[in-house]
Amino acid sequence: MPRTPVRRTKIVATLGPAWDHPDRMGALIDAGVNVVRINASHGTAEIRARWIAQLREVTRDRREAVAVLLDLQGPRIRVGTLAQPLRLEAGRTVVFAPEDEARDGEIPTTYESLAADVQLGARILLDDGLLALEVTGLKDRRVDAVVHYGGELRSHKGMNLPGIEVSAPALTEKDLEDVAQAVAVGVDYVALSFVRRPEDMEQLRALVPRSIKLIAKIEKDTALRNLCGILDASDAIMVARGDLGVELPFEEVPLIQKQIIREAGLHGKPVITATQMLESMVHAPRPTRAEASDVANAILDGTDAVMLSAETAVGEFPLEAVRAMDRIAREMELQRPGRGVTIDAALGRRASEGVALPQHRMAQSGPVRTEDAIAVAVCAAAEMLSAPLIVCFTSSGFTARKVATCRPTVPVFASTPEPDTFRQLSLVWGVTPALTEHSTDYDRMLSVARQQILERGLAQPGERLVVTAGVPFDMPGTTNLLKIEAV
Ligand code: PEP
Repeated sequence: MPRTPVRRTKIVATLGPAWDHPDRMGALIDAGVNVVRINASHGTAEIRARWIAQLREVTRDRREAVAVLLDLQGPRIRVGTLAQPLRLEAGRTVVFAPEDEARDGEIPTTYESLAADVQLGARILLDDGLLALEVTGLKDRRVDAVVHYGGELRSHKGMNLPGIEVSAPALTEKDLEDVAQAVAVGVDYVALSFVRRPEDMEQLRALVPRSIKLIAKIEKDTALRNLCGILDASDAIMVARGDLGVELPFEEVPLIQKQIIREAGLHGKPVITATQMLESMVHAPRPTRAEASDVANAILDGTDAVMLSAETAVGEFPLEAVRAMDRIAREMELQRPGRGVTIDAALGRRASEGVALPQHRMAQSGPVRTEDAIAVAVCAAAEMLSAPLIVCFTSSGFTARKVATCRPTVPVFASTPEPDTFRQLSLVWGVTPALTEHSTDYDRMLSVARQQILERGLAQPGERLVVTAGVPFDMPGTTNLLKIEAV
């Protein structure tokens, strides 16, 4: 029987109004989605709760893990409500004022402290950076700005202030309500937008149980200065290229993407590359060549997951978009299934590009940790033995994430009794999560895993498996076991 190829790169897809039916959600997951993203910036709490309940229902009896990610709006700054769209002509001076103080002809903003936080000469970008203005005057709570690139401005469009230390709190009142809902209905990941410093994530951490994992969205220049601390304070990160590409000069985004992915690898944290990956597929059934290359390059950079936003939320070809990502990822992985990193490690070579590996972290920061040595050894053993699979027994997901960080050349079959871990590992590159019964008997766990592996066609009888775990079982962070077993 031919072996079923397992896609290592994970796909995150954003829900929209058209998905409000269990059959439609089922179709999205069948197309290859691993993580479903719900954007709290749109819709109501009621709709989101219904979507989450439907998703849980649709995924309940599936063998494949699917995680739910709630993406908080964060301190996004917007234009307030305009009586009618405004035409901003280049060269004209306009006035910004806080929403409840704006007079006729002024542009209302949801950001109360605009005049206090910007300086003369600061740039104000509106509507995804399409309209560009420069601050020319500050009068009490009002800001004068001259229009450099004009156009039509509509209500509630986004406002970006590149280079400005925005004083708004990390979590708005709306975020606090949305977090409370996320905790009540039980999501797997909560993402925070416009993170600036580690403390933003710590504030969010204090509001959610440990069972919910936190994602920091990197979309501000300030976040880049604090990236290491933010990574330490988060469970995963997102390269949120939409706002990042407005806050930073767009030509800087490709290298910054590579640096963020590399730094996430050094910290052993999963990373999602997001926004406009297959944008033209909002209206077209095929991606452009440039988009196919963009997805492929993010995979070469070492991203764990690639994300679809408008393509699935409001696009005309959402299933085609998921299938296109799936095809691109599989093709890349056929050519480069992993990095063969373990042979490099055995020979003491440093990888010169892409994902940063634990052995580099070791070289940089003192004594080697047991879990890092085991993870590298597991990958080396799998490669040297031509094993089809690494098997990992994990309760918190720690061991599976550790091994995945080494980018092994074969999939990691992560057997866990914890439903939260099962779903959350669906985001992690190279990991195939499998739900199993709870046991602390190694032989029993191996026998169940063998059966699941054979049923899925992931290995053939007689082949060797590399097994890893932390013993005693049920104690997170104790990766210390490496065994070779026959299927
Ligand atoms: C982004 O800015 O790239 C992003 C993912 O965030 P949002 O879609 O919430 O703007």
